[in-house]
Parts: sequence; C-alpha cells; structure tokens
Amino acid sequence: AKADGRGTYRFFETGMDARAQARRLLEMDLRAAVQRNEFAVYYQPIRDVARDVVVAFEALVRWKHPERGLISPVNFIPLAEETGLVVALGEQVLQVACAEAATWPDDIGVAVNLSPVQFKSPNLVASVVDALALSGLDARRLELEITESVLLQNSEATLTTLHELRALGVRISLDDFGTGYSSLSYLRSFPFDKIKIDRSFVQELSTREDSMAIVRAVTGLGRSLGIATTAEGVENDAQLELLRREGCTQVQGYLFSQPRPASEVTNMLERPRFR
Ligand code: C2E
Ligand code: CA
Ligand code: CA
Ligand code: CA
Repeated sequence: AKADGRGTYRFFETGMDARAQARRLLEMDLRAAVQRNEFAVYYQPIRDVARDVVVAFEALVRWKHPERGLISPVNFIPLAEETGLVVALGEQVLQVACAEAATWPDDIGVAVNLSPVQFKSPNLVASVVDALALSGLDARRLELEITESVLLQNSEATLTTLHELRALGVRISLDDFGTGYSSLSYLRSFPFDKIKIDRSFVQELSTREDSMAIVRAVTGLGRSLGIATTAEGVENDAQLELLRREGCTQVQGYLFSQPRPASEVTNMLERPRFR
C-alpha cells in the first residue's frame, strides 16, 4: 500500500483492477501534461439577445494529447479536481484566456470557468491579479464562472474570496444554475452579476412544460434582482425565440457556434452563425 499524500491509501501491487490502472496512467499523463502545458483554450461566443451581437466568449479547455488527440474537459477535469492538478491547470487557462482576450476588441469579454477546488486554493485571488497584470486585460472584461457547489458551505471564506474578486473589478457568474443544490439564498448571500441557465433546461424548452416554467422563473428572478441571465446550450431557433420572449439577456450554443480555437475568434465575431 502506498499513501497518496491525501490521507487515503491505494493498493498498487495487489488487487489493482484495470480501471484503477487506467486511472493511474491517466493521472501520470495529466501531471506531465500540466507540466508541459499541453492544453488549448477554445472559445464559444456569448450573444446579447436584445442587441443581437457577441459580447463575450466562454473559455473552454481542451487537452491536446500527443497520441490521443483532442480530449474533452469532461474526461479529465474530474480527475484534475481529485488530484488537485486543476489548480495549476486552471491558472494556465486563466493566463491564456486573459492574454488572448487582450488582443480582441475592447468591448468583448471573456468568461473563465473556476473549479470549486481552484476556488478554495489560497492562491486564487493572487492568480487572477497576476493573469490580469501579465495580459494587461481590463478587469471589467473578465467574468469568472463558479458553480453552486462553491457556495454549499456558504462560509465566510467563500464570501470573502468572492468579494475580493469583485473588488478587482471582475464579474462573477453562477454557472449551471438549477442543476445542483440550487438555493435562492445563494442569490441573497452574494450579488452575482449573472446567472447561467443550465443547458438541460434549454434543451427541453419546447418539449417539457416544467422546463419552460423553470426558465421563466429564472429569467423573472434575474430581472427582479437586476441580475443578467444567460441561457447555455441553445441549439435551434425555436429555443432562441422562447428565450427571447422570456427576456433572457444572453444566449450561447451550437446554434451560433461550437467552441473553437482562438484563431477563429475574428470569424466568429463577423459571422453570427458560424458552424
Ligand atoms: P460548462 O461550463 O457548463 O460549459 C458548457 C459546455 O456545454 C461546454 O462543453 C460547451 O462546449 C457545451 N455546449 C455549448 N453549447 C452547446 C450546445 O448548444 N449543445 C450542447 N450539447 N453542448 C453545448 P465542454 O467544452 O465539453 O466543457 C464541459 C465542462 O467542462 C464545462 O461545462 C465545465 O464545467 C468544464 N470546463 C471546461 N473548461 C474548463 C476550465 O477551463 N476549467 C474548469 N474548471 N472547468 C472547465
Ligand atoms: Ca461554464
Ligand atoms: Ca454551464
Ligand atoms: Ca453545464
């Protein structure tokens, strides 16, 4: 048995099944990838509904694996979180995203996802300060997306961090709203700039009345609290029309564009539907 440094034990010599072995290989690979910075940041446009223009891009990481090609974040972020590697990885993404966004037109923002693990790291605020200073990006152009799980403890420390980030001038979005342990008290405990309606609700908009009711409730809530709402995962015109009717502030999804490399940002700005 071997300690993995987090107080738990894993058995390497005996009883290690194929899955555990695969996981261990992936972990070694991921560790090396973080050292070599084998990641690319892709960007997906976020459009303002009323003005019908791109206002920001969401930064979405991909692993450019030398043998296995492009790997989706759903296949390595969970392991990166378990191993703590997500802290270093997240810092790389933040730096790259800020540096790339600094080359875009001034009125275009960038939204970066923060893992709850990264959020708890004592370096978070300093790494945001560094990324802004290194890139020269105006803090007002940076949005940080956090999920509800960050707020689960609702501790003083969490709120302090959120307020420190806000004091830098960055905006804070509540991602995947409605999927986790959503509680309206989160919206009272911290003044979020934006609520992102999870794509599971958007995708069932025209087929499930309860999804429609939830979207209507969230956009209404946003309006009365003065918080912008972004619908993610918009794939067709029917969804867009319903969201527009409900007064959703922003939309994002394959209808407009899939996430693409930085080299395609100009094209995505010029063509409303880039598929
Ligand atoms: P998320 O933050 O909810 O990001 C939205 C995901 O939905 C992205 O998947 C995006 O490509 C996908 N998407 C966008 N529009 C559509 C659509 O119209 N239809 C469908 N079916 N999907 C759409 P992606 O890029 O695979 O990322 C998955 C998740 O991985 C993200 O979910 C986020 O939780 C995580 N992630 C991605 N990049 C980072 C990162 O840099 N740091 C951290 N901590 N997590 C990241
Ligand atoms: Ca997100
Ligand atoms: Ca999301
Ligand atoms: Ca999601």
